[in-house]
Amino acid sequence: MTGYRIQGATGEWEVVVGLEVHAQISTQAKLFSGAATAFGAEPNTQVSLVDAAMPGMLPVPNMECIRQAVRTGIAINAQINKWSRFDRKNYFYADLPQGYQISQLYHPIVGEGSLEVQLDDKDPESTKTIGIERIHVEQDAGKLMHDQHPTMSYVDLNRSGVALMEIVSRPDLRSPVEAGAYLAKLRTILRYVGSCDGNMDQGSMRADVNVSVRKPGEPFGTRTETKNVNSVRFVMAVVEQEAKRQVALIEDGGTIVQETRLYDPDRNETRSMRSKEDAHDYRYFPDPDLLPIVLDDAFVEECRASLPELPDAKRHRYETALGLSPYNAGVLTAEVETSRWFEALLAQSATQQGKPEGEVAKQAANWLTSELFGALNKLGKGLLESPVSPEAGGELLALIGKGTISGSAAKQVLEIMLETGNTPGAIVEREGLTQTSDTGAIKAAVDAVLAANADKVEQYKGGKEALFGFFVGQTMKAMQGKGNPGLVNEVLKAKLG
Ligand code: ADP
Ligand code: MG
Repeated sequence: MTGYRIQGATGEWEVVVGLEVHAQISTQAKLFSGAATAFGAEPNTQVSLVDAAMPGMLPVPNMECIRQAVRTGIAINAQINKWSRFDRKNYFYADLPQGYQISQLYHPIVGEGSLEVQLDDKDPESTKTIGIERIHVEQDAGKLMHDQHPTMSYVDLNRSGVALMEIVSRPDLRSPVEAGAYLAKLRTILRYVGSCDGNMDQGSMRADVNVSVRKPGEPFGTRTETKNVNSVRFVMAVVEQEAKRQVALIEDGGTIVQETRLYDPDRNETRSMRSKEDAHDYRYFPDPDLLPIVLDDAFVEECRASLPELPDAKRHRYETALGLSPYNAGVLTAEVETSRWFEALLAQSATQQGKPEGEVAKQAANWLTSELFGALNKLGKGLLESPVSPEAGGELLALIGKGTISGSAAKQVLEIMLETGNTPGAIVEREGLTQTSDTGAIKAAVDAVLAANADKVEQYKGGKEALFGFFVGQTMKAMQGKGNPGLVNEVLKAKLG
């Protein structure tokens, strides 16, 4: 199989991509200070003396940040380094009062790991393993805000010192789709782990996209790095646009320079920002204010034990233990909230029906992915804004499962639930939607229908079996649509011999 190729004047080109993802660690306090990290606060209201880099202030590591980085490392099957160290990365910028960023260059806390992506959501076999080189922990910088009238610039230090994980992939990605799938999967894992909220539009997660091109089989080309790309769609666009630009430039006789670029979504193009610095430009050295971080086995084990069931394992369990289709298993595990909702729904439905979850899981998955998702879609709402709770949904499923209401009545009930927020039991009672499973009543109705249609009964017995549907229809009509269809069929079969 040949993968994604760019057609140039001189033949086909392959794109090579590696992502450096900055993920804000979900903690109350910053990496080296007790200042708060909430999004959207008034500028400069979440700044301690440490974050403002007042002389003589000393950083104190927030062990919750370390713990979250280790938990994330375990979730991507990575090596956990029990000895790691913080280094100073020196540079001047107005949003960096320290004059250096505390990061980890030489001894990151997490070493080699990997994650698996699925490239085509309809094909569970279309997987690829992407290598991850490292995760290190570092401080975020502040933010500059520029005003035009009058021309003024302001500094907001609320983000200064917020803990980030930098998650560095191997250059294993070979197409826009692979880069997008990798970022989406990484986000899913971080949200399951709870180490990052994954809110890309709030800047909690952003990717530096490294792109180079080569003729297939040749060594890697020189890469450019497009900074701070903040959505899966934009990452895919950057890979595509940047690869095309590089091919055109090389074929035109130019050379790619290693540089930092910016993406402009409005024009869908990348633009040069500055030439790329090398590590030695930053004069990295171990931060003398901080001791190395030394972890023991018990700490790492506690981190491991605290992890929830992760998306790949959950998906596998949904398919094998619950018997769901690969597609439904994929949809229901893609977001941690969806899987929680589904599991609450399933538990409720199983309890109310007195059945093991495995027996009622398909019903729950089908109802959720088609009926409820469909209805919410029409309302323009997500699952978390659903007026129907998992408990109410489970009650509805149990009413169907126990034969109290028919499938078509259930659709009606769901509509009313979405409108009114009432419970399914109350709606069924008020609307008189209960289906009759009373065999006595069904038998009486069947008898009446057969007596009124003696001629058709003769024809049926003479071999015209297609008339069976007619008898079912007549019986249901006689019962105003409330006969349990399964029982009606059973009784008719018995009576007609
Ligand atoms: P630096 O620390 O200077 O940013 P790294 O060697 O750590 O450089 O690589 C940074 C990112 O660039 C990694 O995600 C890596 O996979 C990616 N990368 C390295 N070489 C290439 C290349 N030739 N083409 C595309 N991506 C690359
Ligand atoms: Mg880099």
